[in-house]
Amino acid sequence: SAQVIDGRACARTLKEGLADEVTRLAREGTRTGLATVVVGDEYASAAYERRLRRLADQLGVAYRPRSLPPGATQAELTDTIAELNADPAVSGILVLRPLPPHIDEAAVFRTLDPRKDIEAVHPENAGLLALGVPRYVPSTAASVFHLLDTWLDEAGEDRAAFYHRSLIVVVGRSNTVGKPAVALGYLREATVESVDEWADRTHGLGRHTRRADVLIVAAGKAGLIRAEHVREGAVVIDVGINPRRDADGTVRMVGDVDHDAVAPRARALTPVPGGVGPVTDVWLFRNTVHAARLLSGRPPLPGPLTRTGPTEPL
Ligand code: NAD
Repeated sequence: SAQVIDGRACARTLKEGLADEVTRLAREGTRTGLATVVVGDEYASAAYERRLRRLADQLGVAYRPRSLPPGATQAELTDTIAELNADPAVSGILVLRPLPPHIDEAAVFRTLDPRKDIEAVHPENAGLLALGVPRYVPSTAASVFHLLDTWLDEAGEDRAAFYHRSLIVVVGRSNTVGKPAVALGYLREATVESVDEWADRTHGLGRHTRRADVLIVAAGKAGLIRAEHVREGAVVIDVGINPRRDADGTVRMVGDVDHDAVAPRARALTPVPGGVGPVTDVWLFRNTVHAARLLSGRPPLPGPLTRTGPTEPL
């Protein structure tokens, strides 16, 4: 049965190194601060903000959650972003999706100061990532590869050799998760294939996913990937987080992968919860620290992000 990749342990190690870095920066007079912006109450934002608050306290990072009412206008939202852009106590800004339909998301992202755009949603940062010279790597995709890299190290595998011979198949193509994961696969010089809903509707996912050495699933569909979708010995990273109501009415989170069905075939598998999620939360702060360093004219954090490490700021 598959080895279960422990995201919580990975997150803990990442957190320790970060706390030291925040302390070091503070001693040298550089403040590290994260701001989140939520519009409306669609997003399960209260629980998320509590989680970020706890992490911020543990790491010594200032946290500013901003919340606008569901009817907030585009101008009110961009005014809030302008304030955060100008605030020296804020190093990184995260605008939570989904935004209400009356807001032009792309236009909002373009108003972010690219140096504070830690999730790389501004076209400048998205472009740098697509060109293979990222300034920031969105935290979910970064966490997927951080988990993979860590697992490879622990398994005694040569990272470069593993990626060079691997076919990575990414299911789901969102700008926030799927596409950045593809970009990171390219950066590791793997062979990468991207599969979207249309493949599922027309000829089925299996003909792609069954060839994957590494299967990354970010579709947001509970139990989408079953045993017949997975090659014997594949490494499976489950990004999905879907609420499912049990017979007794309790809601729990499940992934996009049918864990029990896939575990007997896979070589390694991330659980939900306790896989990609905890690492993503910490990576958001890692990107915030990275931003604090860039804003204060320091070189970027040495990164496991890319083959060569993140590039200098423009
Ligand atoms: P999204 O809805 O923006 O994008 C989903 C993508 O999957 C789209 O490209 C869509 O076409 C594709 N898709 C949908 N159904 C499919 C199918 N049947 N077959 C193939 N492709 C299909 O979602 P997102 O923001 O990319 O998030 C994806 C999932 O990851 C969600 O469950 C979300 O909650 C979760 N997520 C987890 C983390 C984490 O830290 N673990 C972070 C962000 C998102």
